[in-house]
Amino acid sequence: MANLSSSRVRVVLRVRPFLTSEIDSEETKQIPCITVLDPQSSGEVTVHLKDQWTSRNECYKLDSFFGQEDRVAQIFDKEASAVIPGIFQGLNATVFAYGATGSGKTYTMQGTENEPGLIPLTMSTIFNLRETTQYSVDIAYYEVYMDRCYDLLEPKAKEVIAMDDKEGRVQLKGLSWASVNSMDEFTEVYSAGVQRRKVAHTGLNDVSSRSHAVLSVAVTSGNVKGKLNLIDLAGNEDNRKTGNDGIRLQESAKINQSLFALSNVIYALNNNELRIPYRESKLTRILQDSLGGTSQALMIACLNPVSYQEAVHTVSLAARSRHI
Ligand code: ADP
Ligand code: MG
Repeated sequence: MANLSSSRVRVVLRVRPFLTSEIDSEETKQIPCITVLDPQSSGEVTVHLKDQWTSRNECYKLDSFFGQEDRVAQIFDKEASAVIPGIFQGLNATVFAYGATGSGKTYTMQGTENEPGLIPLTMSTIFNLRETTQYSVDIAYYEVYMDRCYDLLEPKAKEVIAMDDKEGRVQLKGLSWASVNSMDEFTEVYSAGVQRRKVAHTGLNDVSSRSHAVLSVAVTSGNVKGKLNLIDLAGNEDNRKTGNDGIRLQESAKINQSLFALSNVIYALNNNELRIPYRESKLTRILQDSLGGTSQALMIACLNPVSYQEAVHTVSLAARSRHI
């Protein structure tokens, strides 16, 4: 199991399999040849991206790598499950899925009926661990879209306002927390939230891939309270490629700004910098209590195996965040 030390944010890479629609298509010819060099070296891997059709290739260092054959359960066992014991001791933690739209973030976090994602795998482990203890489990689920927060446990995904408290930290005032006592109860509340995420912004284009979705899980026993954030980040985009304009360009600017701010925070934490730039975005301000300090964190960079350009865009930011 990964050793998640405090303050250090682990950055791992996952490449999803080809979809049936991609096999035999023209696009498949663009597959970056993704190879892993020296996977045995102590605690880090070098990922080599190679464009089959040009001579371009680049290498990046990351903490771990999951290839097209690897299942979500392996990511859970080797990486994500490591944060759970700390939650029961009152620590906070954050697990992010980062990557372009279509790279497998939602698949990794949420999963499908056949292959449960990190969210259900984590929740069932929490419920199992809790069985013999006196911990209560509460969840909140919200999305951050254009720097505004929407409560996905409320009808019509009511907006909640982020306000500074006395210590200058952001609090989401009025955010709902639902107590859940079993996997069935969790699934019911969470699925309703997922449904709201899809329909809440009618009239806007596919907001679900353009907002950060945060599931917060609080595990409490008396004065001991740990919190885990499981986050499906908005898709990072390369505007040169997508040719966005108007509202799409504004959305994309916000997304890229918040992802860049997140990467700056992770970089600062991993390099023991004195000043951690939480205030650069709404997202990092909201996550401040679960990122850095004694909190544990894991970033899973997801790759669509078809686009070399996108792969470079994603992996370079991930490797830059990790840089030590
Ligand atoms: P994102 O949330 O990053 O936009 P998705 O999770 O929706 O991407 O994945 C894009 C497509 O790829 C979906 O059709 C999804 O079912 C499929 N997919 C992603 N990861 C896997 C995987 N590990 N195995 C099989 N299919 C996957
Ligand atoms: Mg998604």
